[in-house]
Amino acid sequence: MTTLREPLIFEVSGEGKRGFLLPKLDVPVKEGVLKNIPVREEIRGFPEVSEVEVVRHFTRLSQTNYCIDLGFYPLGSCTMKYNPKINEKIALTKELLLSHPYSSEELVQGNLEILKNTEELLKNITGMDAFTLQPSAGAQGELVGMMLIRSCLEERGDPRKIVLIPDSAHGTNPSSAHICGYRVQEIKSNEQGTVDLADLEKNMSEDVAALMVTNPNTLGVFESDIKKISAIVHAKGGFVYMDGANMNALIGKSKPGDMDVDVIHLNLHKTFSTPHGGGGPGAGPVGVAKELEPFLPVPIIQKVKGHYRLVFDRPKSIGRVRSFYGNFLVIVKALAYILSLGPEGLNEISETAVLNSNYIRKSLEVEFHLKYKSPTLHECVFSDKHQRSYGVQNIDIAKRLIDYGVHPPTISFPLIVPGALMVEPTETESKRDLDTFIDAMKQIAREAKENPEILKSAPHNAYVRRLDETTAARSPILRWSRENRKERE
Ligand SMILES: *Cc1c(COP(=O)(O)O)cnc(C)c1O
Repeated sequence: MTTLREPLIFEVSGEGKRGFLLPKLDVPVKEGVLKNIPVREEIRGFPEVSEVEVVRHFTRLSQTNYCIDLGFYPLGSCTMKYNPKINEKIALTKELLLSHPYSSEELVQGNLEILKNTEELLKNITGMDAFTLQPSAGAQGELVGMMLIRSCLEERGDPRKIVLIPDSAHGTNPSSAHICGYRVQEIKSNEQGTVDLADLEKNMSEDVAALMVTNPNTLGVFESDIKKISAIVHAKGGFVYMDGANMNALIGKSKPGDMDVDVIHLNLHKTFSTPHGGGGPGAGPVGVAKELEPFLPVPIIQKVKGHYRLVFDRPKSIGRVRSFYGNFLVIVKALAYILSLGPEGLNEISETAVLNSNYIRKSLEVEFHLKYKSPTLHECVFSDKHQRSYGVQNIDIAKRLIDYGVHPPTISFPLIVPGALMVEPTETESKRDLDTFIDAMKQIAREAKENPEILKSAPHNAYVRRLDETTAARSPILRWSRENRKERE
């Protein structure tokens, strides 16, 4: 790994350096053509560099970036897996890539068929009655789901006031409920890390619009009482919203529809093959039970007399939630992924994802503390409890992993595990890669005892050392200037 300090492009700049040469003007100059158009003579402070300097600068920068094509990414909660390149290739098909969102229905029958087929497959995979592919992320899917529930309750005459959310939930769940106008009431987890039924029963009332539950939850534990949970909520007229971000653990094995949930969102960019990170692109389709179907966002796609139609005339719909057809190419990749694997392949995904996670859990359970001992599915949550006695925290462990060439796992989430280190290997990693990770973690556990200082100042081999994250967050420098550059150094 390079440890050279790559200068900023502004620092490479030198007056008069050019990346191009224009031929001499061989026509008469015509004055006034650009009159009334605000054109700048120059952009002040804009870097002046040659072609090769630009190419090398950005190539060197790109090589300091860790990515899924370079190595293992054991994040928890946010399935970050290698995605077969065939799906990218299919999404790059010229006809799909260049189709214009304003094309008339007649010209994009194939695109609409892709969307409709994806909907049908997602219905089949989840056991839900209908889908919208419009939302662009899991969080937007959650908001859409809550809006559907609110509309349906309003139609019954009372939108209700409260949404119940277990204490292990992802932060987007309470945010979505809150944005939709609900008060969030937290539900306790029991010793197994699952929803405490007594606490649920106590808090479930006719003021509760919905329970938002993640299954398997963020500890990787399957909510084995999910049918009882749904029954408790339904008995008081509430809805069950399932956060399906962890579908990687269930796919091909069990269907949320069979768990009596009313709404679910999926994260196509997690489970169904779109590389993500850095903010996108994503897609968070929402599946619903029959009762909520009339409220789905417009347009919906219908096949009428052999033709696909975008239908807007839906009086109960919550309206539009996104322009055009959603994140179309992400949906194309998901369809390619599902079809290229087929039912058996999909089945194998969840089996291998669960096997890989349990292999890591078993291999590290002596060195790293496990607050919850229950069997887990696709992810496991260790903590830094054993290492704390040497003054070492989860962040030190995470930073030291960088020195061993591994991306750090998610830390300090879920909040119910103090000092959490949350690992989700996914199905794409080989035993060899898992062993490399396990060896690095064991080595770090030894270092914590013998030489804790090396952990507290890690990373040592990375391009940048330990950053002052508090200052970076509180007073970020968003605009470059020679002055603040000097200040920082
Ligand atoms: C990732 C995730 C979300 C949010 O999804 P985005 O696509 O990032 O908006 C919600 N819940 C859980 C459990 C997640 O892992």
